[in-house]
Amino acid sequence: MQRGMIFNLQRYSVQDGPGIRTTVFLKGCPLRCAWCHNPEGISPEREILILENRCVACLECRRACPIGSGEMEVGVLPARDERCHFCGQCIAACPSEARLMAGREVTVPQLLEELLRDRIFYEESGGGVTLSGGEPLAQPEFLLAVLRACKDQGIHTAVDTCGLAATRHVLAVAPFTDLFLYDLKLMDEARHRRFTGASNTLILENLKALSGVHRQIWIRVPVIPGVNDAPADLEATARFAGGIPGVCQVNLLPYHRIGVAKFHRLGLETEFAATPPPSEGSMSAARAIFERAGMDARIGG
Ligand code: SF4
Ligand code: SF4
Repeated sequence: MQRGMIFNLQRYSVQDGPGIRTTVFLKGCPLRCAWCHNPEGISPEREILILENRCVACLECRRACPIGSGEMEVGVLPARDERCHFCGQCIAACPSEARLMAGREVTVPQLLEELLRDRIFYEESGGGVTLSGGEPLAQPEFLLAVLRACKDQGIHTAVDTCGLAATRHVLAVAPFTDLFLYDLKLMDEARHRRFTGASNTLILENLKALSGVHRQIWIRVPVIPGVNDAPADLEATARFAGGIPGVCQVNLLPYHRIGVAKFHRLGLETEFAATPPPSEGSMSAARAIFERAGMDARIGG
């Protein structure tokens, strides 16, 4: 039985493709974007988050934990401990739901059953199911099985990808994917490596390969102040995307700070803690760059 690890299932989403959608977030991503807004999706393993504003410092988590209870150290059990085996006892013991598990294993039939609950909304709105992450292609067999199951049910499917995956996996899911939401972050290879932890070479090659077999691709550009919002960077992305057949829309996604709190909840740091979102004026200027390149560019989406 095909199993996958997901960390969220968001119903009534209107940001991840056409209509009303259910977005499934698969765990694991090969990139380490410094501005990531879903850092709980980076690791392929389960993780614990702590919502500090809910914690009443009762220490029930430490008392319940098989590794924490025997320690002399006092204080709230931290989010990260390499000895943690994710038994969930600290979460069950917490009286204020201050501890959360990111990551649950599901089979394809279990997930499909959840997705089918919203079929009426998909049908009435022209929506469907979006597989996102993390990076959904980091679990290629599971992703393919979910997409096949959705198509068997006549559900519109979208895959939201960073593009960093084996080309054969990208091409394997293409026949079962109605729409690709394909991220392009930076054309400059060295700076892409610096800010995401990986080269963009395969990402760009995969987009070209995908465009050879698929004609419904929306490019997503996260606009990150100080990273890729300079006109020269956006123009380079527009030139590249504009030359790809099958690209029918560009979504410019303004950086927002929601990920900063999540990094903190995971016990991780982010260098973007003080970075403000881009102004409306700079987003309009970014859109104009893509429009001048002849593209249907939109802010958000
Ligand atoms: S999940 Fe289990 S092992 Fe991990 S911190 Fe909680 S109680 Fe301890
Ligand atoms: S059990 Fe929950 S509320 Fe109590 S100290 Fe632990 S995290 Fe905080």
